[in-house]
Amino acid sequence: MKKIFLLSLIFSIIFLTGCGKKIEQNSLDKIIERDTLIVGVKTDSKPFGFISKTGHNEGFDIDVARYVAKDLLGSERKVQFIPVTPNNRMEAITSGDVDMVIATMSITPQRQYFIDFSIPYYIAGQTAIVKKKSEIYNFSDLKHKKIIVVLGTTAEKNIRRIIPNATIIGFKNYSDAFNAFKQNQGEAISSDNTILSGFLQDNKDYRMLKNKISQEPYAIAIKKEDNQKLKKNLDIIVNRMINDGTIKNLKQKWHIAG
Ligand code: GLU
Repeated sequence: MKKIFLLSLIFSIIFLTGCGKKIEQNSLDKIIERDTLIVGVKTDSKPFGFISKTGHNEGFDIDVARYVAKDLLGSERKVQFIPVTPNNRMEAITSGDVDMVIATMSITPQRQYFIDFSIPYYIAGQTAIVKKKSEIYNFSDLKHKKIIVVLGTTAEKNIRRIIPNATIIGFKNYSDAFNAFKQNQGEAISSDNTILSGFLQDNKDYRMLKNKISQEPYAIAIKKEDNQKLKKNLDIIVNRMINDGTIKNLKQKWHIAG
């Protein structure tokens, strides 16, 4: 009797744990089943990701997202945009709130520890802008100066490393950082040349430093998975965008050098 009881207990445990086990769907299958791609994008980083006067998401990264949606789901309309900032985009990926982030995000070894990236679709570089009349001409002139950065960016990390005696003034997004810069809260603002060029297009009293202190390879960021199905597909898509002239056309459309 005792034996029968024990056996049925073992079977129940095996049965229950078996049923409780969720069959993990890979990210690509999830996207295809949902039939909508959820992409984290910038809303304040012209010309890569911003909100147009008519209230729509626009920019180079938005067009990349539409291309990916067309490739994966057959229509560039099957995409939902979620605003992200450098400060929260890692969490948006790891929590699964978005399928991917396409938001001027550079591949770095530290980030690769937590998330995966496609191959890069654009190479930017870090620089800084100052007032036109400023005495600052290169990064060595920024010693002991107040430098505005957006928190969580490679710019923040690089400035802390390269100019340790500078005073860092950090903001959570570019809108606040640019406003603070216009209000003279810092002598310079440092970020990628791409994002700073967007700011210069609308603000003529400033100039960009000539030297770049880093290479910033922009790539599509996704959740880490044992099954690399989505990453493999994204690598093929980015490769095609480079080879079929899409990236070149987007650079022209958004007036981006390089
Ligand atoms: N590309 C740099 C980074 O990934 C700075 C720009 C940004 O964060 O959006 O940190």
